[in-house]
Amino acid sequence: MQNNDQEETEKPLDFIRTRVKEDKENGKNDGRIHTRFPPEPNGYLHLGHAKSICLNFGIADEFDGLCNLRLDDTNPVAEKTEYAQAIQEDVRWLGFDWEERFFHASDYFQQLYDWATKLIEEGKAFVCDLNFDEMRELRGNLTESGKESPYRNRSVEENLQLFQKMKEGGFPEGSKTLRAKIDMTSPNLNLRDPVIYRILHKEHPKTGNQWKIYPSYDFAHGQSDSIEGITHSLCTLEFEHHRPLYDWFCETLFIHHPQQIEFARLNMTYVVMSKRKMLRLVEEGHVDGWDDPRMATLQGMRRRGYTPEAIREFSERVGLAKRENMIEVELLEHCLRADLNKRAVRRLGVLNPLKVVIENYPEGQTEEVDAVNNPEDPETGTRKVSFSREIFIDQNDFMEDPPKKYFRLSPGKEVRLKYAYYVTCKEIIKDENGQIVELICTYDPESRGGDSPDGRKVKGTIQWVDAATAVKSEVRLYDRLFLDPNPEETEDGGDFTDNLNPESLQINGNALVESSVVDLPPGAPYQLERIGYFCTDPDSIKGTQLIINRSVAMRDSWAKANK
Ligand code: ATP
Ligand code: MG
Repeated sequence: MQNNDQEETEKPLDFIRTRVKEDKENGKNDGRIHTRFPPEPNGYLHLGHAKSICLNFGIADEFDGLCNLRLDDTNPVAEKTEYAQAIQEDVRWLGFDWEERFFHASDYFQQLYDWATKLIEEGKAFVCDLNFDEMRELRGNLTESGKESPYRNRSVEENLQLFQKMKEGGFPEGSKTLRAKIDMTSPNLNLRDPVIYRILHKEHPKTGNQWKIYPSYDFAHGQSDSIEGITHSLCTLEFEHHRPLYDWFCETLFIHHPQQIEFARLNMTYVVMSKRKMLRLVEEGHVDGWDDPRMATLQGMRRRGYTPEAIREFSERVGLAKRENMIEVELLEHCLRADLNKRAVRRLGVLNPLKVVIENYPEGQTEEVDAVNNPEDPETGTRKVSFSREIFIDQNDFMEDPPKKYFRLSPGKEVRLKYAYYVTCKEIIKDENGQIVELICTYDPESRGGDSPDGRKVKGTIQWVDAATAVKSEVRLYDRLFLDPNPEETEDGGDFTDNLNPESLQINGNALVESSVVDLPPGAPYQLERIGYFCTDPDSIKGTQLIINRSVAMRDSWAKANK
């Protein structure tokens, strides 16, 4: 009962789920629901793909269906095994399982060839000798209808012979194509005798040198869906005008007919979300590889400290639209903070250390204070953190001449060192340039653990590390990769790389973190209290060099209020 009530108050289904639900209820395809995620292995997956993965695997999950992973490997020129591997790794990392249903469009090359032959036999496809430019010339445009190719009326026998010879490598690349014979006057350009096979004398990662011809996207995609018994073929809006062709192939070949449904692709501010553009960033050295933490690739985001949970939550919140739109990167950051707030362990660290000597603390003494691992998850308990006479705080947490509402440390003021003691600043030591290099403080031994000994109030609490045990760390601070929220919008003749942010990576080599940070494995998230969420970078060398990435900054309420 209660469950039903809950379901009724759930948010309404999006337009795709509504359709899927109807089809299931109406017994279409015997009530089966079967989706697929079909990336081309010509680059690494990005956040946009994550949205598609969550949608396809999510729907299968919610409607008791199945989802396949299929590599759309019909273009051997740009595709690599490296990409194919990474795609599988990334889908698994996001938390989805295709079980034994891992396929390649190239698994179907023979079947596709046989279907092409069938089209020729029925007079519905022909071998064309026009080159690319000539073809485009005759194709017409949105206002002008196209003209038929002079090769359109070849006999079935001649077409069959030529197509077979194309397959066997008897013609040079680009000299011929196989085209569907549909309608050169169609208002839909995709139906104007589209190319369905082209000659390519390239080795294919899966089929080697077996094929000298490769099917077009349009000829391979729908038929692969059909072969796999897909019921709902979900794709992005740019394929809307391809749907009539998708339907034409299924109907003309008399094969299982999946329903193609389009949704708006994910666009987000301050990133480029296209494999082609990302490849340029990598190849031109603007970033340090596909897994650079500034990239919106899943590998980059993972290295930066993004969690699958945060990305899944983001995909859900973004929802589905039928029109192009732009999502703000702040939503993604919000999802990450919300997830890490629940799960990340807390540690102490300072990015810009300022030495503090506690003059009334016994020299040579060390003690351990208890620090809470995660206030959001009491089960994680506490840990011991060492404390002694010399500590470091962050330079940001001290001001010699503070404004009124500054509650951190300043001359004569008292502040709480988190988990440790109350300290009061007694003296400032400066170097010959007037830079503050050290503070002399006193502590109140009665305030151990950070508790007030006599009910007196201390407004500020700051973090610190013990000079004797803290570990030096390189901190990589990431900012937006682009300066413009829409990097693709450029001045006349400009290029999206003109909008790169030259300061998107700042390296801080002086940070100090509490020693237990070195025990956290690369990738495991932690919060450096009051600074942000971090994870150790795989470039670290245990025991020698600690390198940490800032995943996302904490919101600094004081800085915000004082803007
Ligand atoms: P890109 O433009 O980055 O090369 P693509 O669409 O060519 O992307 P594919 O490998 O062909 O990449 O895409 C696999 C699936 O992911 C397709 O179903 C595609 O529609 C979907 N997809 C790609 N980019 C996005 C995006 N930004 N938002 C949502 N889905 C996307
Ligand atoms: Mg593509």
